[in-house]
Amino acid sequence: MKTIGILGGMSAASTQIYYRELCARTRARLGGLHSPELLIRSLDFAGIEALQIAGNWRQAGELLNREARALERGGADFIILATNTMHKLAEQMMRGVSIPMLHIADATAMRIREKGLRSPGLMATAFTMEQSFYTDRLMAANLTPIIPDTPDRAVTHRIIYDELCRDIVTKDSEATYVGIAQRLVDRGADCLILGCTEVGMLLNQANVPVPVFDTTLIHCDEALNLALRS
Ligand code: GLU
Repeated sequence: MKTIGILGGMSAASTQIYYRELCARTRARLGGLHSPELLIRSLDFAGIEALQIAGNWRQAGELLNREARALERGGADFIILATNTMHKLAEQMMRGVSIPMLHIADATAMRIREKGLRSPGLMATAFTMEQSFYTDRLMAANLTPIIPDTPDRAVTHRIIYDELCRDIVTKDSEATYVGIAQRLVDRGADCLILGCTEVGMLLNQANVPVPVFDTTLIHCDEALNLALRS
């Protein structure tokens, strides 16, 4: 089994989901007392968020690059970056690193295409929805992403940072997210990407009327496929 290097803490709430899901999925696949070989680097998200707000992406990229190198030195066979937003810096992060990175948007796009779907709604941070680094990647896979309108984007973003990243889950915010997802469906989305690793804390296949692609769960599955491939 290969060692998965997780660069996480962005936020800690979702890195806990990665850990739990990777353990459960390894047990389900291999049985007995099996558990995944992991190297988890969990960063202090307050510092990362400050760099995001300041637009200091260069410094954030340098930081991620240092951490990716450390995961390689520590013995990881490949890296998963446990946040969609920070994939903005994927290229800079992997500079001079010789182990591969499993890209969260590519893994998600592949799943959507396998199902023959084409127009995913995208709920994520404002960075992921509004900048091109993520939607371009989806379009390169022949998908046509639909993002929420301006007020819905602001609410989606606020709930991620003020609540989900702090492990706060409320019925009110669930209802708000269900409404945003429905408006994307009304505008033609044939499926929904939970494009932030915390959004699955509120949305799932039980409260969304179209197929749901939870980037966290897809990322865990694909990481495990790679770790178990000989
Ligand atoms: N975990 C989130 C994501 O998947 C947001 C936190 C961050 O900005 O990294 O985008």
